[in-house]
Amino acid sequence: MNQLSNEYLNKVIEDSKPYAVNGRVNTELPNFDETLRDKLGVSIITSEQNHYTAGDSSHKVPMQSTSKIIALMLALQDFGKERVFQAVGMEPTGEMFNSISALESHDDIKPFNPMVNAGAIAVCSLIKGGNNDNRFERYLHFLRDLTNNPTLEMDEKVYQAEIANGARNRSLAYFMQSTGALITDVEEALDLYFRINAVMMCCDDFARAGLFLARGGIAPGGDEKLIPPHHLRTVKAIMMTSGMYNSSGQYAVEAGFPCKSGVSGSIIGAVPGRMGIGVVGPAIDKKGNSTAGGALIKKLSKDLKLNMFRTEIKY
Ligand code: GLN
Repeated sequence: MNQLSNEYLNKVIEDSKPYAVNGRVNTELPNFDETLRDKLGVSIITSEQNHYTAGDSSHKVPMQSTSKIIALMLALQDFGKERVFQAVGMEPTGEMFNSISALESHDDIKPFNPMVNAGAIAVCSLIKGGNNDNRFERYLHFLRDLTNNPTLEMDEKVYQAEIANGARNRSLAYFMQSTGALITDVEEALDLYFRINAVMMCCDDFARAGLFLARGGIAPGGDEKLIPPHHLRTVKAIMMTSGMYNSSGQYAVEAGFPCKSGVSGSIIGAVPGRMGIGVVGPAIDKKGNSTAGGALIKKLSKDLKLNMFRTEIKY
């Protein structure tokens, strides 16, 4: 088995970089252009708090869909599992993350799961705070606490771009209003969704979020449980089944631990009891996953034996 070290990670970066040619940089995001294609970074923090990095690990990108797992944790805290899953399903979907037809064809009025856009907008309607400034403030504090990074901020330009490019998400939200799936103020749920997509993080932050999930809800460097284990179990199961959009089955097989991706090319990986992994590689495939980042995650899993379903364990 390979030994985890910075040298090893440098090698993994070099091996994974060529996969970026198969992807496309999401130029709807401010400052995202072709020059980002070759960027690739990784950060790993183990449960013993050993920290390894390689490549462009301090390059910041908007969280995009990686924010969906943070919002889900907060909604579970605020309203509990039963209420949250009255509003959104638990089932994986074979459709794209922003599919409109999936909403109408599902037998239920609920979006498939909290990792697709419609599901995350429904989750955003279940975050307490009275108004959106307070709701977002609570979100940001929770994120800062769980990553142990008090400097995390939303990028105003990314937020404005989310609003400007938000027609599809608005369609999903208003459709949900029409079926009764979204019962709070639609514009507020959307606005919170746009804000959480726009918080900037680097590989180290993504790795700390992964470690938080992998280590029982205790923030790196802390010893306080910020969320009960039964909620974490729910979030990790949903990540495993739906976190990599309609490639989640493939990632369950090839990586075998809970992951969540975003269209900025970010990936959060949580290897229960062992480590948090943060990856940034902005070239994404058609389904929205980083091509080089995905290759890197799969290689790590193979080399370091991270697959939770591996059979080499001696009983
Ligand atoms: N901002 C993007 C959207 O709402 C995020 C989606 C994603 O990362 N898959 O469509």
